[in-house]
Amino acid sequence: MPTKDLHGRPLKSLRISVTDRCNLRCRYCMPEAHYTWLPRAEILNFEEVTQLARVFAGLGVDKIRLTGGEPLLRRGIPDLVQMLKEIPGIVEIALTTNGILLEEMAPHLRAAGLDRLTISLDTLDPLRFQRLTQQDKLTQTLSGIDAVLSAGFPPPKLDTVLIRGTNEDEIESLLAFAFERGLELRFIEYMDVGGATQWSWSKVVPRTEILERVAKRFGPVSPLQKTDNAPADRFTCADGKSFGIIASTTRPFCGGCDRSRLTADGKWFLCLYAPEGLDLRRPLRGGETPDQLRARIQASWSERADRGAEDRQKARTRGPLAGPADLRDNPHLEMHTRGG
Ligand code: SAM
Ligand code: SF4
Ligand code: SF4
Repeated sequence: MPTKDLHGRPLKSLRISVTDRCNLRCRYCMPEAHYTWLPRAEILNFEEVTQLARVFAGLGVDKIRLTGGEPLLRRGIPDLVQMLKEIPGIVEIALTTNGILLEEMAPHLRAAGLDRLTISLDTLDPLRFQRLTQQDKLTQTLSGIDAVLSAGFPPPKLDTVLIRGTNEDEIESLLAFAFERGLELRFIEYMDVGGATQWSWSKVVPRTEILERVAKRFGPVSPLQKTDNAPADRFTCADGKSFGIIASTTRPFCGGCDRSRLTADGKWFLCLYAPEGLDLRRPLRGGETPDQLRARIQASWSERADRGAEDRQKARTRGPLAGPADLRDNPHLEMHTRGG
């Protein structure tokens, strides 16, 4: 029986951030000039990550997603995939990436047993990519998508954060790009998470507007039945091609949330918006047994009541979750530390 929280939500999906470093500076995630990085000595090694993942698997976690920061910056990441693959009960290992290092890494990730990838792609315009990420690397991301297909992976999902005034004019072209390649693209509403210091309601492109625009360009859109607790609502166009919307801001989906997040330094967050995480590194390095760690994790999850995005939605006024100074004092608030 999987461990359940106070709302009856099981502990099923674990996102493991393997680094807080990134080779891009997306304006919706890392817009500041300076960051406080996690101390290197505190970053879990692969053996430690695997030990914790094994304990989580014993409590019902069956899916792991590797993320960051940019997970492909972590040296030897295929070795970690291989180690996690051997854990009984883990049925899927996925990875979310900006794709820049994929051309080189895709075959190694495949050989290591990685099941699937999600690639972030916010624009098809090289100049806009440069303005949005502070790097001139759109070509690498696009080559990365091809490399995933050539390496024999199932078609990767593409994730696009839409921001009004930045890339909402590309809804149609991004979707056409995905359709032509047989890929499923998910539009993500801009979220007021830690790190998004430039967030405002006026920059959110809501799900309703995305659906209207898609219908206008591609014809009638029908919703697809949800089959799991994944965050995206899926839709098909008249020709059967599908896409998704992750409406975290205007239509939060906390009710079925079975996700939690482990940072690269071993802090476990029960919600993307949670102010604090449970430190698992200290007890692990202090020699606690798997059973002791298991008891800690189980106790925490069974008291979980978090519904962060829903709580944010109820707030009368809404702005960024944290300011630049708060983020420098507490880097664990950052999306690139928690893993998206
Ligand atoms: N670097 C990898 C990438 O970009 O795919 C993985 C880590 S990134 C933090 C994971 C996801 O979080 C990405 O899809 C990114 O677009 C999303 N993300 C970051 N900040 C966001 C925000 N303010 N609103 C919505 N999504 C955000
Ligand atoms: Fe962009 Fe991902 Fe890096 Fe954040 S962690 S700056 S979303 S590439
Ligand atoms: Fe889950 Fe928190 Fe996101 Fe809601 S806001 S879906 S509870 S992680």
